[in-house]
Amino acid sequence: MSKSPENIEAAMREFLYDFRRYFDQQQAEGVEYFESASAEVHPRPRRPSLPRVAVPPKPAACPAPPAPLPPAAPGFSAQPAAARKSVSDPRESYRLLLEEIGRCRRCPLAEIRKNPVPGEGGNRKRLLFVGEGPGEDEDRLGRPFVGRSGKLLDKILASISLVREDIYITNIVKCRPPGNRDPEPGEVTACRSYLESQIRLLKPRLIVTLGLPAVRTLLETTSSLGRLRGRLYDYRGIPLLPTYHPAYILRSYTVENRKKAWEDIKMVRDFISGPGR
Ligand code: SF4
Repeated sequence: MSKSPENIEAAMREFLYDFRRYFDQQQAEGVEYFESASAEVHPRPRRPSLPRVAVPPKPAACPAPPAPLPPAAPGFSAQPAAARKSVSDPRESYRLLLEEIGRCRRCPLAEIRKNPVPGEGGNRKRLLFVGEGPGEDEDRLGRPFVGRSGKLLDKILASISLVREDIYITNIVKCRPPGNRDPEPGEVTACRSYLESQIRLLKPRLIVTLGLPAVRTLLETTSSLGRLRGRLYDYRGIPLLPTYHPAYILRSYTVENRKKAWEDIKMVRDFISGPGR
């Protein structure tokens, strides 16, 4: 590998990610500090005590520049701080939530993300779609479902006359898990409150989970997606419909899987066109 600035930066990010995971793991196992092995082999001679001299404080290390904030969701336009009304305003609360996600370093995924991906959409029909985590394209652009999966999702939505502006779409974790793996339990736990705040503020009338990690997280179940899909569930008073992730349909592009996905999206159509909706 060449020693280009990009490669050095990528290596540093990987090192920080591994170190953070190791540190978190040690902390979870109850390790409170690390002893220096050399302290026992070479004990330091005690210095004679010296009179205390005031030392000017070191300049603070230059903080890393904050990750660029993602675009505000349509319908939740950002306002300058001076124009804030109050945090009781749901739009202002949502803007603050997006800012908080943009700065978040609660879990090791912060060390390797390019951009956090909090979610976006017009939410015109108050349908919330929840995937598992951003992929490579999403990480690069800071926007959800912009790659091949996103294009298939657009086709699925179009099949029931919906467009992105009708829905809001987000993920269980807001930063990309390396190699597009499923989010780990610790990452889901660290990120979960953001999704709960989004649900509270967006007030969806239907949640559609895409893929197994999303439905397992929200329903706190260990069942398979094959058993779960095809029915509505209750998530804190909101109907929840589990279906396949578009990436799974692309990977297993069989007639049977497409038929099941079509059955699920018809349930969304029937739900939003039902009486009183
Ligand atoms: S995945 Fe969630 S908890 Fe982890 S750093 Fe990103 S926003 Fe924070």
